[in-house]
Amino acid sequence: MPSEKDGVMIILSSPSGAGKTTLAKLLSKKKNFAISISHTTRNPRQGEVHKKDYFFVNDAEFKRLIKNEEFLEYAKVFNNYYGTTRTPVIDNLNKGKNVLFDIDWQGADQIKNKKLDYKLITFYILPPSKDVLFQRLSNRDMKDKLIVDERMKQFERDVLHWINYDYVVINDQIERCFNKIDNLIDAEINNGSKDYDLNFIREHVEKLTI
Ligand code: 5GP
Repeated sequence: MPSEKDGVMIILSSPSGAGKTTLAKLLSKKKNFAISISHTTRNPRQGEVHKKDYFFVNDAEFKRLIKNEEFLEYAKVFNNYYGTTRTPVIDNLNKGKNVLFDIDWQGADQIKNKKLDYKLITFYILPPSKDVLFQRLSNRDMKDKLIVDERMKQFERDVLHWINYDYVVINDQIERCFNKIDNLIDAEINNGSKDYDLNFIREHVEKLTI
């Protein structure tokens, strides 16, 4: 049964390449924070560890989890399936831990619509400019120009979902962005004042989408 002492759910979404995974890892180091480890059917990237970065599973196993209704949310992203299993999340929340989700807008919508009895704070992370995003995507493990182009196109579609989030934060510099999110989470949990300028964000999104 959810109570006052329960943890809060914090969703971080962003277009690919905006730095959200690094931010989620930094936030998960905070006291009393746990990161939700997703299941995915995509292949591990170099350096990724099974059960730490993701539970890497095949299509059959993913379908079994869907059938057993084990997912709190799941979605198809870039031709692979990704999903969050319910039990570890609820267990952590009931223990008073704040749970971080590094998931896309489809998953964020599904969790929002579930209207669970736990506080939910949602963040959308944006790159400072399209040029910076292009550079970040090109420098990743994806040397393939076609993939970079595809992700830039995907960005144009994904960015439109910013409006459904509680806060949009620009990742111009990782430390600054981390502090901003950290302060907003603290303010939300403790009912403090929030340093947030929606007009500035609106203008930034306009610049990114022209
Ligand atoms: P990547 O393959 O780069 O690790 O992740 C691709 C996208 O899938 C990212 O936007 C990431 O946030 C999203 N993602 C990762 N795990 C989940 C999940 O469990 N559910 C949903 N809906 N999206 C996820």
